[in-house]
Amino acid sequence: MALYKFGERTVSSDAPTFQKELENVHTASAEQKPRCLCRHGEPGHDEGIAMVVAKIGGRFTVKRWPNSAEKHAANCGFSELPMEMTPYGALQRGEAVLTLSSGHIRLRLDFSLAEGGEREKPGGNIDGGEHHEPEQGEGDSNTKKLTIRAALHYLWHEADLDKWDRGCAGIRDWAMISGSLRMAANEKHTGSGPLGQLLFVPEVLGMETELPGIAGARAKIASRKKIDDKLTPLLLLIAEYKDIKHYDQYSHTFTTEDVPEYPFLMEDENEHPWSYFSKNFRMAADIFSTTFKDELDLLREHKNCHLITIATFSFSDRLVALKKAAVMLVNENWLPFQNVNEKRIIDELTAKNRLFDIVLRFNQHINSTRPFIILKDAAPRPTALYIVPERPKEDYKEEREKQAELGNYAVWEWNPSIDADYPPLPMSQE
Ligand SMILES: [Zn+2]
Repeated sequence: MALYKFGERTVSSDAPTFQKELENVHTASAEQKPRCLCRHGEPGHDEGIAMVVAKIGGRFTVKRWPNSAEKHAANCGFSELPMEMTPYGALQRGEAVLTLSSGHIRLRLDFSLAEGGEREKPGGNIDGGEHHEPEQGEGDSNTKKLTIRAALHYLWHEADLDKWDRGCAGIRDWAMISGSLRMAANEKHTGSGPLGQLLFVPEVLGMETELPGIAGARAKIASRKKIDDKLTPLLLLIAEYKDIKHYDQYSHTFTTEDVPEYPFLMEDENEHPWSYFSKNFRMAADIFSTTFKDELDLLREHKNCHLITIATFSFSDRLVALKKAAVMLVNENWLPFQNVNEKRIIDELTAKNRLFDIVLRFNQHINSTRPFIILKDAAPRPTALYIVPERPKEDYKEEREKQAELGNYAVWEWNPSIDADYPPLPMSQE
């Protein structure tokens, strides 16, 4: 629950009339917009912090102004972790994500949104297979550009889909998720153009609609072709994985939950970029299934989860062709997790209506030292939750202490290789 000031009135986000209150001020002047009261009582904070109201997937929601996270209290849903503590902060320091003086954000991508230009990295066409990732540390080149998986984590983070409070219960569906992702792409720029024009997130289709999303994607591709005839432009897809099926002797189809009528082609030809991953003739579908085996196994075990795919794609004569891909598992509340251990804790925290942020991994290696959750409503103070990785770094403990100190967080830790059950989670302030 959060408290907001609407003019002279204080309204709780739990109030049954809260949606109506937001609707009333959605298009109103800035003075009438809600103000967050998370620091009420501190000197100079009685007026609250200015917020904006957005309409996403048919619902009204409070958002903070860009670059205003540091104004909010550590136990407020709108606060952010110290930059030094998160994989996202590392990318900001490496200028992979750079806020320009205009307020726009420039993203440097480690993958191409055009074919025929910059060469693809050999072996770089699938991102996220942990066993294929080199060890990566702070300060090296992996903080200078977003990998394709990090691009997905970035948009999920910008869309506030890595945050949870009790107000999120029951309102997340694909209409809300896809609307939030499209909105998060606004005012973000890449070397290939504005991200909003490059991103294709399928919309929820009515029975009678004839693939308006795909038509929109074709129009986006066509407009890019006019800019540069030498390059084949690609778009960036974010959609929910449904299945991979055999199509013909040369290819498989990749189907999404969101536009199942329109499968994406995965070609199996040797010269196709997918085959960089192996020297041999390996089928694109095989590579996908092998690389993301852990995620696909978890998806089979947990039917209420979703597998989000990010992929570059182009239009071929026959079908839409996928080029480069990464995936991310999310639970039934669309909260990202990497393994069953993380999922167990996220499920407990959501069932108990706790207030927390998931710390996404972005470019970092799976064994890097980072909290995976910040439990903002923990008593007596916000707590960083750590699960000791399978192969922790030598200075894991020192690094963890240093991180928690930066944010003045308490530390909760679970080492699953010693204890099958996790210790009790910190109690809530309420
Ligand atoms: Zn606040």
